[in-house]
Amino acid sequence: MIYLLAFINIKLLQGYFVGRLLLILGILFLVWMGYRFLNKTWSARVKEVEQRERKKVQEQPKTVQQVKACAYCKTHIPEEEGIYQDDHFFCSYQHLDSYLEHKQSK
Ligand SMILES: [Zn+2]
Repeated sequence: MIYLLAFINIKLLQGYFVGRLLLILGILFLVWMGYRFLNKTWSARVKEVEQRERKKVQEQPKTVQQVKACAYCKTHIPEEEGIYQDDHFFCSYQHLDSYLEHKQSK
C-alpha cells in the first residue's frame, strides 16, 4: 500500500514536473517567437531605411549632373530648363541672344 502511494506520489510529482517543464518550454517558445517576430520587423524596418538612404545617395549625383552653368550669367540651373546652342548652355533665350550679340559686337 505504501509502495502504491509512493508510486502515485512519484507519478504526481512527475506529472507536476512535466507540466512545469512544458510550461517553461511553452514560455521559452513564445519568447523565442516574439523575439523572431520583433527581429524580423526590426530588420525589415532597417532594410527599408537603408534602401531609402541608398535611393537618396543614388538620386543626389543625378541632380548634380543635371545642373549646368549658363554661358552668359554663369548661373547654375537644371539642364532640362536651359537651352543648348553651339555647345554652349544658356539659362534662357534672353541670355542666348545677349551672348550672341556680345559675341558679334567683339
Ligand atoms: Zn543666364
